[in-house]
Amino acid sequence: MSIRHDWTLEELQVLYDLPFIELVSKANQIHSRFHELSEIQVCSLISIKTGGCQEDCKYCAQSSRYQTSIKAQPMMTFEAVLRDAKSAIKQGATRVCLGAAWREVREGKPFEEILKIIEAITSLGVEVCCTLGMLNASQAKRLKEAGLYAYNHNLDTSEKFYKTIITTRTYQDRLDTLSHLENSKLSICCGGILGMGEDYMDRLELLLLLGTRNPHPESVPINRLSQIPGTPLEGQSKVSVWELIRIVAIARIVLPKSMIRLACGRIGMSYEEQALCFLSGANSIFAGEKLLTVANTPIDKDEEMFQLLGLKKKTAFKKASKS
Ligand code: SAM
Ligand code: SF4
Repeated sequence: MSIRHDWTLEELQVLYDLPFIELVSKANQIHSRFHELSEIQVCSLISIKTGGCQEDCKYCAQSSRYQTSIKAQPMMTFEAVLRDAKSAIKQGATRVCLGAAWREVREGKPFEEILKIIEAITSLGVEVCCTLGMLNASQAKRLKEAGLYAYNHNLDTSEKFYKTIITTRTYQDRLDTLSHLENSKLSICCGGILGMGEDYMDRLELLLLLGTRNPHPESVPINRLSQIPGTPLEGQSKVSVWELIRIVAIARIVLPKSMIRLACGRIGMSYEEQALCFLSGANSIFAGEKLLTVANTPIDKDEEMFQLLGLKKKTAFKKASKS
């Protein structure tokens, strides 16, 4: 089975219209060709610079435009980040993601500090991913030289819906950063959020965009909106778990080798719902009590689920197998 980069919206619509069991079964067949069925990568997302962001992303607790409970905090120290990374690795994380509430990377001491942190955590034998907002070609190159494995830069939804959620930057701005990342040979992590008021076509258009990139993003986080009091998306109706599973399954079919990650919004999902997501091709979770500033599934619940389902933790740097 070849990896395709020429998907059409019509094809994704056909997949979306399949009866649920057929869609999940199709996704699972593809999943099993490229991945170990019961292998899940555990990631940890550390908020190294929290709050006070100038952007107006309507979903975000860290935007300084909205009256949320999150206030601007200074960047964590090198030692504190290393301490948290070591603790996450001890609990089974093989990918450590460092998030900053920034519009973009700016030159100066904080960025230099992050380059040192990347080197230090990489030396612990795990994949390091950063999500620091937009960046330029030189910054991408320096991140790569520091040993960074991957960079997260979500497109979040379709281009047309994006402008109703964020007005302080454009979709093209995000696509430009993805190009700098690709040119610097950094592995790309790019996904989206379900439940912001978009319709299913917006979700398919995001998957189409990811599925027609060459190469596909190595990592695709799928978030369910976590409603943040004080943000414009507070009160948004929750997207159904059935819709989430459909999108996971289509993502798996369109992006066979990518890591499909259940990210924000997993908290409160039953083991059965998560098992259906894994059956449909999701093969990664974020563990730890927080996802940046948002509550996450308690670690002991995840351990219990791994036991119950006989799941194994994926090692770092293990690529999807050829088929
Ligand atoms: N400032 C950087 C940026 O905007 O790229 C990194 C911050 S964080 C990793 C950004 C991502 O987290 C968003 O693109 C979105 O996918 C996710 N996210 C943030 N707030 C969320 C929320 N309330 N619910 C679900 N996902 C959320
Ligand atoms: Fe800032 Fe990123 Fe939050 Fe947008 S998602 S407000 S850019 S921290």
